[in-house]
Amino acid sequence: MAKLEKRELGRTGLNLSCVGFGASPLGNVFGPVSRDDALAAVRRALDLGINFFDTSPYYGGTVSEMVLGDCLRELGVPRDEIIVSTKCGRYADGFDFSAERITKSVDESLQRLKLDYVDILQCHDIEFGSLDQIVSETIPALQKLKEAGKIRFIGITGLPLGIFTYVLDRVPPGSVDVVLSYCHYSINDSTLVDLLPYLKSKGVGVISASPLAMGLLTENGPPEWHPASSELKSACRAAANHCKDKGKNISKLALQYSLTNKEVSSILVGMNSVKQVEENVAAALELLNIGEDLDLLHEVEAILEPVKKQTWPSGIQQS
Ligand code: NAD
Repeated sequence: MAKLEKRELGRTGLNLSCVGFGASPLGNVFGPVSRDDALAAVRRALDLGINFFDTSPYYGGTVSEMVLGDCLRELGVPRDEIIVSTKCGRYADGFDFSAERITKSVDESLQRLKLDYVDILQCHDIEFGSLDQIVSETIPALQKLKEAGKIRFIGITGLPLGIFTYVLDRVPPGSVDVVLSYCHYSINDSTLVDLLPYLKSKGVGVISASPLAMGLLTENGPPEWHPASSELKSACRAAANHCKDKGKNISKLALQYSLTNKEVSSILVGMNSVKQVEENVAAALELLNIGEDLDLLHEVEAILEPVKKQTWPSGIQQS
């Protein structure tokens, strides 16, 4: 079987599998997932060459971190063979990007993950905090944690793309290693593309999450809490039905679409079962060997044209 491609992450020296394991589903975010299913999914992911795992204390109110940590421990994965990222600043009880909370939060995450260090620690959804605090307080606090060896690289995540330029234009060069964008490199919205030259000029590695637009581009559709407008939801449902009628799977098409741009180091997909892991790895391998189904892509793009680039508000207004 062909190997899952690995891609360099900016200047970090890390080589991430192009499909990354998004562990938010392990926090039961998209519905309940048993421990057995979680363990089997993580085991299969490792077997198939996925080396990148992303979680957060926010997912399932710490459950995702705990379950991922249990799985990695139980499987006895050598630490230098996996790249683990978690986050700070967003919690079940709200947002806190203060140096004090961040510093405490990392220790709590390491405990739940049962690790001595994480490879990437990311400020989670910074549009909900003060971006000036991120620049002047949070990133410097993370720098100290880097020096202490608790984290290897520093990242920032969020939905509006403007937050990345705001922060990167204001921090000392090299102090942010990674950005994680989500829902902006999918068939319905690929606006992250326009930002890639800027991010490259800053030497920042790029991870893109939610290729299935948090469930919009799946046959089962999104969870109840999905913030998209009803117009966007129904256009995506029409696109999914179109694929199904043709005996094809919209999730495969969507993941392959996100994987085509190699300037994005890893596409994080939320996975909760062996079946999803196998399907997503197979989609990546098929893309490498056969290429995209361009006819189907153009048909789906036509269905989604009226909602192209439609997003939703996230965070507090920044002046
Ligand atoms: P996603 O677009 O990856 O969609 C996940 C949904 O699709 C889940 O319901 C999953 O069960 C389902 N799915 C996965 N593979 C499938 C397949 N082959 N067929 C049908 N359905 C399939 O959205 P996501 O989970 O929100 O994003 C992926 C990961 O990226 C998260 O788990 C998280 O780690 C990360 N993320 C981070 C941020 C952030 O930092 N702000 C935001 C969003 C996502």
